[in-house]
Amino acid sequence: MASIALKTFTGLRQSSPGNNSITLSKSLPLTQTHRRLRINASKSSPRVNGRNLRVAVVGGGPAGGAAAETLAKGGIETFLIERKMDNCKPCGGAIPLCMVGEFDLPLDIIDRKVTKMKMISPSNVAVDIGQTLKPHEYIGMVRREVLDAYLRDRAAEAGASVLNGLFLKMDMPKAPNAPYVLHYTAYDSKTNGAGEKRTLEVDAVIGADGANSRVAKSINAGEYEYAIAFQERIRISDDKMKYYENLAEMYVGDDVSPDFYGWVFPKCDHVAVGTGTVTHKADIKKFQLATRLRADSKITGGKIIRVEAHPIPEHPRPRRLQDRVALVGDAAGYVTKCSGEGIYFAAKSGRMCAEAIVEGSEMGKRMVDESDLRKYLEKWDKTYWPTYKVLDILQKVFYRSNPAREAFVEMCADEYVQKMTFDSYLYKKVAPGNPIEDLKLAVNTVGSLVRANALRREMDKLSV
Ligand SMILES: Cc1cc2nc3c(=O)[nH]c(=O)nc-3n(C[C@H](O)[C@H](O)[C@H](O)COP(=O)(O)OP(=O)(O)OC[C@H]3O[C@@H](n4cnc5c(N)ncnc54)[C@H](O)[C@@H]3O)c2cc1C
Repeated sequence: MASIALKTFTGLRQSSPGNNSITLSKSLPLTQTHRRLRINASKSSPRVNGRNLRVAVVGGGPAGGAAAETLAKGGIETFLIERKMDNCKPCGGAIPLCMVGEFDLPLDIIDRKVTKMKMISPSNVAVDIGQTLKPHEYIGMVRREVLDAYLRDRAAEAGASVLNGLFLKMDMPKAPNAPYVLHYTAYDSKTNGAGEKRTLEVDAVIGADGANSRVAKSINAGEYEYAIAFQERIRISDDKMKYYENLAEMYVGDDVSPDFYGWVFPKCDHVAVGTGTVTHKADIKKFQLATRLRADSKITGGKIIRVEAHPIPEHPRPRRLQDRVALVGDAAGYVTKCSGEGIYFAAKSGRMCAEAIVEGSEMGKRMVDESDLRKYLEKWDKTYWPTYKVLDILQKVFYRSNPAREAFVEMCADEYVQKMTFDSYLYKKVAPGNPIEDLKLAVNTVGSLVRANALRREMDKLSV
């Protein structure tokens, strides 16, 4: 499916102008995994004397943790400001296999390895997907309090100063290379939990402070449309947990969400049951109840141990960069439509932005400017914009009515669809298609949609 849409898709953004950097031939190792960066020194950027470049990362979720680790390993004096060290970010916690490898995640922070997924239609037709997975392939299920703490600890081990504090605002530089002054409330042992107002001077700032980003507000980054997502963690009996051992469920239908899906994702000793919507936010609790009812027989008798809700950005902010401040992760608006996936994209954008700073500053030796940070945006848009666009189209086509959702679930039974979908999800690369299978799939898709439209017309007649 993704491959078909991609082939007909045009309009990749062009690199923006204003890049005045030169490329040095020097290549430097960045991590133990032998990742290498080319060092691009901005022709005009002055050296920073007597110290290294100072960068503050605001927010210690996956975006912030990944950014801070990369910066610290790249010779930058790094400060990671997180308001709540035991934050349990409301989240389904599903991560693609490639994230485990790319971010060297230890297996003991992964609660479950999901190898089976049930896609359940409005009329409760369940299609098993995952049959095409190879023996080593799975979707990781994590608890965010575990993943986020792990990434922050790793940033600290790499040399970042991790500060427990609430970022409040920042004063913009008064001259071209002058510092940003960050104001935050510190909560460390010296403040006895009461909090103390402090300031921090840095040369650049990465805003990784999530959907309600204050860094975004500081640079007038503009708003985005958002979904509200609701989730309950439900502890179920061992017997019932056995069913969800390596299985996740996705429910579609007007009852569970008019424009998204409901989910049951397995965690260590509980399941996470949730749903989301952009268009009918006031009804979110009604949709949550419907999701629970659909899964009823499998979670009955369970105890709700946590109720959580949070916005999910629907698209990137109008502005993601200003001068020496860049936004990453949810602060920038990097969640995919259709799947609502944002953890991998948060970590990846954090790392990409940090790499651009390390490169532009020659490992902390020079001042950076907007053109250095812009390289991150250019690379990001070039790499992921098609993925976002395809998932946007899929959501518009298949989540718009119950007949369309029935068609969608019917299509998911196709092994080729499963392979393409899983390959794209697990590896974040658009899987190369097989022309004959692509053609078959196109015919089937049209057939399913025609049936869906015919069904919708019949239903409309009935409701007149
Ligand atoms: C209910 C729900 C389910 C989801 N399920 C999935 C899923 O299964 N898979 C998936 O990939 N994505 C999922 N997402 C999306 C995913 O949670 C986000 O895309 C991801 O968390 C973005 O990471 P981030 O680091 O950019 O931001 P966040 O994870 O939001 O982290 C921001 C961090 O900044 C801190 N912070 C905020 N403001 C300040 C401040 N002023 N000062 C200091 N610190 C601050 C916060 O405490 C937090 O730790 C889901 C989202 C929701 C709401």
